[in-house]
Amino acid sequence: DTTNQMLTITGESTAELNVGDTHSPIRVIGNNAIRQTFDDQTLTQAINCRLAPGVSDVVLNPDAHVGYGAPVGCVMVSPTHVYPGPVGVDIKCSMSLLQTNVPADAIAEPTVRRKLIQAIGKRVPSGAGRGQRHVPKSRTVDGRLGFQVATEGASKNVLKKLGIPKDWAGRCEDAFHTAPDGSSDTLAARLEWMGRKRDSLDRLESKYRQLGSYGGGNHFGEAEIVHVDQDPENRAIAESFGLQHGHVAFLSHCGSRGLGHDLAMGQFGSMKSSFQKQGLAFPAGDSQLVYAEADSENGRLYLCDMAMGANFATVNHLLINQLVLEAFRDVFPSVQGNLVYFISHNIVRREDVGGQTQWVHRKGATRAFPAGHPGLARTPFAETGHPILLPGNPRDGSSVMVAKPGASHSAFSVNHGAGRRMSRTKAKKMLSQYTIDNNLTEHDVMSNCRQYPLDEAPDAYKDFAEVLASVKQAGLATEVARLQAKFVIKD
Ligand code: 5GP
Ligand code: MN
Ligand code: MN
Repeated sequence: DTTNQMLTITGESTAELNVGDTHSPIRVIGNNAIRQTFDDQTLTQAINCRLAPGVSDVVLNPDAHVGYGAPVGCVMVSPTHVYPGPVGVDIKCSMSLLQTNVPADAIAEPTVRRKLIQAIGKRVPSGAGRGQRHVPKSRTVDGRLGFQVATEGASKNVLKKLGIPKDWAGRCEDAFHTAPDGSSDTLAARLEWMGRKRDSLDRLESKYRQLGSYGGGNHFGEAEIVHVDQDPENRAIAESFGLQHGHVAFLSHCGSRGLGHDLAMGQFGSMKSSFQKQGLAFPAGDSQLVYAEADSENGRLYLCDMAMGANFATVNHLLINQLVLEAFRDVFPSVQGNLVYFISHNIVRREDVGGQTQWVHRKGATRAFPAGHPGLARTPFAETGHPILLPGNPRDGSSVMVAKPGASHSAFSVNHGAGRRMSRTKAKKMLSQYTIDNNLTEHDVMSNCRQYPLDEAPDAYKDFAEVLASVKQAGLATEVARLQAKFVIKD
């Protein structure tokens, strides 16, 4: 079809999308089955990104589909510019994985799983707009603590106040984010200024009270059985990550909730009006591709707001993991749990790419630093590469991977999941409730929903096996463990 005609195939799972002689082509990851899933609008968005000012590189991953200005499932690199669209409205949407010492057998009985679902439901709110006041056993987050969370991230103080183990900070891709000048006081000054009016302060405080919650839509918590790959090398890596074969782990997906959303929307608004005031044209006429030079005033303000959203997302995940562990303790009083990793997929980071420090925007993409990457020095993952947490779907499983040196070909990034195959509207129209619910029951996957949301059904996403095959064939990463869902918390 037309989509594939636009691509130059360079390998079994690699292709290029040419955008003219003045720019290097977009690198596309995906085997033949995956290439069929890219529609014209996705490719057009990728081209718009590649041709946008200051952009040096774009990578399109197997999970790519239409997004906000930039496709979801893409990486956009620039030495000079920052783009809020290719970070997205859910700043630092991320995955985290908690390994418990509960053996798989212990949750075989549906009644046990039902107890766990209820215990988690008493502590971690789910559903759009819901925060700690909707559950009896969360934490109290007043204005002071919320302010500290946004400005300090997972600092010792914040972790202590929330009862989160302090060593979990070391299991984060980034435990905290500062202003571009390296200071958290700069963030504090800005957040104080933002809350100077009663209305805005009330709004900020209502968002702080969402700390420790999933939110709605695509976000979820999921109990998994860990299946470590039996190849000795992969097994050694999995074990060094703290993964335990045949035991229960808990995978979480969420971001910066209402706070990150407000900060991102504020930035879109102010950047757009700044473009209009200056009479500047949006790249490809798309206002979702507004940008700023990183060292301009607008660039600095964006990076400050993104940092605060990112700090909130970080502590949000860590608190959820602690609350989930407490919920497990209701059912298994002597349970032990360790955070395997926490890693984002909507963020811009300063990284070395192609021998140069650049702004790497990952929009629905996961960082993939292999063993020996300088960015992992002084982390527990210097000699292995860090864990890559890839959700697939609750029926076909999820994956823990580790990068290979070949990841240098994709700006040290891989996909962030299976990626949508159908829009939400299409899923609701095309999929049958009866079939979806039965299908999950057949696979012994329970959930907190009476009816599984159709727009979140496994069939609304791309074929996860083809996605994983593409990543492996392209030489970007290897799989060290497979996660098999036993129950999902969603909406
Ligand atoms: P996002 O919504 O952040 O763009 O994508 C997250 C990814 O999570 C999707 O591409 C999809 O593969 C995966 N996903 C969505 N819902 C679930 C779920 O309930 N369980 C699992 N394991 N994966 C999911
Ligand atoms: Mn999100
Ligand atoms: Mn996400």
